[in-house]
Amino acid sequence: MTTSDPTLLASFVDAIASGQLEVVDLTTPLSSATPALRLPAPFANLVDFSLEEVSAYNEPGPFWRHNNIHTGEHVGTHLDAPVHWITGRDGDDVSQIAVRRLVGTASVIDVARQVAADPDYLLTVADVEAWEAEHGRLAVGTWLLLRTGWEVRGGSEAEFLNADESGSHTPGVAVDCAEWLATEREITGLGVETVGVDAGLAGGFDPAFPVHHHFLGNDKYGLTSLRNLGRLPATGAVIVVAPLPIVGGTGSPSRVLALVEGAAA
Ligand code: MN
Repeated sequence: MTTSDPTLLASFVDAIASGQLEVVDLTTPLSSATPALRLPAPFANLVDFSLEEVSAYNEPGPFWRHNNIHTGEHVGTHLDAPVHWITGRDGDDVSQIAVRRLVGTASVIDVARQVAADPDYLLTVADVEAWEAEHGRLAVGTWLLLRTGWEVRGGSEAEFLNADESGSHTPGVAVDCAEWLATEREITGLGVETVGVDAGLAGGFDPAFPVHHHFLGNDKYGLTSLRNLGRLPATGAVIVVAPLPIVGGTGSPSRVLALVEGAAA
């Protein structure tokens, strides 16, 4: 390579500037209105996200405005680190995750049609095998992103959690599929549009919360409350996942960006 050749990173930056690469935000805006998990008694819930004003160009800070933030680790679009689950208790906390694993390809599997007919729909091994027959085996290190169409409910916590007396009716992954993905495929993690990586009724599965159980116990991650998955191709996009490096943290609200080859290419 001569000095006049564009470098890999210069080409990358040029592609973003020209629109050949589009940057798509997969993150839910974080506010006190962001839907959060509501565990039933006797379990304890995290605090919701909130902003607390400390100064706003006034006496406590005449030239500046700044706030305290209050939040649970697992609020809004967030990453689940291995130590979040008892099966991953000896694994990495969110500050220990190797950052190279936070940048990877996205493999998008779309079950929105099935979920429209059944909000309790569970991804099956057959669904993934059908996807692989079309797009190839799930790549080593890829993030599997489950498109369910659930994001359209994000403006209302009641619609997002979709709970009744029998529990929360939101889609997820079947028990055998969670184990198969965690042990038979070398993926980095699972990203979903719903409030958690497991289905709403997964507390009653065996094992309970199988995605948490198998993924976090196998050094894989979870990613929740994603939006705009419909703007990603089935394969070919790259995502950047940016949790805060909270020392000892079991997860963190995260900005998640996708790089997608655009029409200008
Ligand atoms: Mn979580």
